Amino acid sequence: MTDLTDLGVAAIRDGVRDGAFSAREVAEAFNAAVVRGRGLNAYTVETPERALAAAAAADEARASGALKPLSGVPLGIKDLFATQGVATTAGSRILGGFAPPYESTVSGNLLRAGAGMLGKLNMDEFAMGSSNETSAWGPVLSPWRRNDGGNAPLTPGGSSGGSAAAVAARLAPGVTGTDTGGSIRQPAAFVGIAGIKPTYGRCSRWGMVAFASSLDQAGPMARTVRDCAILLEAMAGFDPKDSTSLDLPVPAWAAALSSDMRGKRIGIPREYRIEGVPAEIDEVWETGIQLMRDAGAEIVEVSLPHTRYALPTYYIIAPAEASSNLARYDGVRYGLRVQPEQGGLTDMYEATRAAGFGAEVKRRIMIGTYVLSAGFYDAYFNRAQKVRALIARDFERVWERCDLILTPTAPSAAFALGEKSNDPIAMYLNDVFAVPASLAGLPAMSVPAGLNAEGLPLGLQLVGKALDEQSVLDAGLALEERAGFTARPEAWW
Ligand code: GLN
Repeated sequence: MTDLTDLGVAAIRDGVRDGAFSAREVAEAFNAAVVRGRGLNAYTVETPERALAAAAAADEARASGALKPLSGVPLGIKDLFATQGVATTAGSRILGGFAPPYESTVSGNLLRAGAGMLGKLNMDEFAMGSSNETSAWGPVLSPWRRNDGGNAPLTPGGSSGGSAAAVAARLAPGVTGTDTGGSIRQPAAFVGIAGIKPTYGRCSRWGMVAFASSLDQAGPMARTVRDCAILLEAMAGFDPKDSTSLDLPVPAWAAALSSDMRGKRIGIPREYRIEGVPAEIDEVWETGIQLMRDAGAEIVEVSLPHTRYALPTYYIIAPAEASSNLARYDGVRYGLRVQPEQGGLTDMYEATRAAGFGAEVKRRIMIGTYVLSAGFYDAYFNRAQKVRALIARDFERVWERCDLILTPTAPSAAFALGEKSNDPIAMYLNDVFAVPASLAGLPAMSVPAGLNAEGLPLGLQLVGKALDEQSVLDAGLALEERAGFTARPEAWW
């Protein structure tokens, strides 16, 4: 029999429905894989009993003919989602000991659809990072290694690093991620899986620990485009508890999937050809362009003139919103409290925040507080908001000439742990291709497209019009089918 952990979301759902195996067997196989994979540090909390309970419900549902869309499918949940009664720390010491009395809308939607929970997935602290190295619980190791025999530990990307590693190493068939400025797409690219950030507002942010509220979006990560579509359908939907949630029906994306690109125009933005990017990134982009052509698409060169301002704009707006959102961690309401022996309330705030936040989070709070301060608000935050509007307008104009944009997902393959962690600017540069779509609130997906000379995965990004996840998924499927990416990391963990 095939190893059940090799199966994806659709295959597990169908196999349980058809009686090829039981949901309990699936949950047991993944629970065991999670234990075997502990060396990757992908999970911060394991919840095998929850996976088994959902499996038992799925097996009963099958017997009574009441299967749900995700019955029998166990998932990993990024630790940014509040999970009722299960530790939720967002990768931060300051939330140590916090077990929410409520369930986030997105994880609740998945559970209501029949999914089980394997555990909570490690991540950069408050989702700030591109390598999972800012987690208070230590970095996640990528299951991938370079083929140079050196065995240097590599990052799975971030901030959804635990999510990415878990899917690539077969410790989960699918997971939730979140994406503020690339945190689904870049890790997906680094480990050779698919991931989609939907249009801002498709998924409720209620119960998702806030980083930058105008940018944060939940989305799925899985090994195939179809699995992503299935998971996104279950995650998305209107939620009156989130004022930015879109009151629109959720389309049947998976059923409508089509890889026929005839009649589609794919835009190649010239501003994404930036200096200093390794040749392998240009090459995989060229390959992707050719594959889209083969699939019947028309390729058009387009311009997004404000692209070069996207990264600095993001690194003003995101810290500004973060500094405001993170004010709530004061030692009173959640998790950690450090009470100095002498001193009053202010000393307690200071001691708690000094001990509870890591260096990157402190850096962002300081940048954010600075750009929002009375003397600098106009020069930084207000200016950034205006540039953000121009970036969004670039996309609106470009949709007159094309239906989708195709770019590389990240400017490099996975890098080694420690390689960029002492250089925040180098780390931020990793988000250069991801943040424009975030600032514009557009759906964007990463699909694996090939391996580089070191044997590491490279991903391509598709960006679509607002609410047009279908076209993004369709083009993702076309790339997936034609790129034929089947590489997987050899198990060493
Ligand atoms: N790497 C980016 C940052 O550090 C994006 C993170 C994210 O999307 N959550 O802010």
